[in-house]
Amino acid sequence: MQPTILVVEDEAPLAELLKYNLEALGYAVETAVRGDEAETRLAERSFDLILLDWMLPGVSGIELCRQLRQRGHNQATPVIMLTARGEEAERVRGLTTGADDYVVKPFSIPELTARIQAILRRTSPELLSTTLVVGDIELDRETHRVRRQKQEIHLGPTEFRLLEFLMRTPGRVFSREQLLNGVWGHDVYVDDRTVDVHIGRLRKAINRGRMRDPIRTVRGAGYAFDDRFSENSARRSA
Ligand code: CA
Repeated sequence: MQPTILVVEDEAPLAELLKYNLEALGYAVETAVRGDEAETRLAERSFDLILLDWMLPGVSGIELCRQLRQRGHNQATPVIMLTARGEEAERVRGLTTGADDYVVKPFSIPELTARIQAILRRTSPELLSTTLVVGDIELDRETHRVRRQKQEIHLGPTEFRLLEFLMRTPGRVFSREQLLNGVWGHDVYVDDRTVDVHIGRLRKAINRGRMRDPIRTVRGAGYAFDDRFSENSARRSA
């Protein structure tokens, strides 16, 4: 099952960026740009996690969080606050009001997703499978082991993260920039060529020079983990 996340953020480009990246990671995402809009969503259904911006038009993040904890579908739903720099006092207030964690803007997507996963592992372990299987490749997120046709494959840490990222959404084409943001993070200074180098290493390790290459190069666009590869070779579990 897909964990469902509500993103409450009034900066539309940031809300879109979060939605795009979280969907790429396999989450179902709804967004609200105003506090009162978020109230409506929260009254309608329950979510597995809420990303809550602190400064919002309508109803403030802190007020929303306080209301949330009093009653309703989302009384126990974990909340990660998105705060601006210099809002330390607000952060402390937030944590005492019932937020579970916070990130300070600008944050990197890998940092945020690591926190989301850490919280969901605790609150909704049934939603997070530790193993990804696409075709004949198995990746275990907990032990960091990768096997192809039951044979162990040894990957460096970057190749492992890259493979995990691609395997989460087979068939989807990622640009080099999206891979950089999703795997390396915004703050790290690396150029597009770095992606090609690591894709090359990953291919070499998983194909061993003779197996069918599941990584598709899309000219002018980027890379994808081929979904036809997964259809042809049976099962996929998310
Ligand atoms: Ca804001």
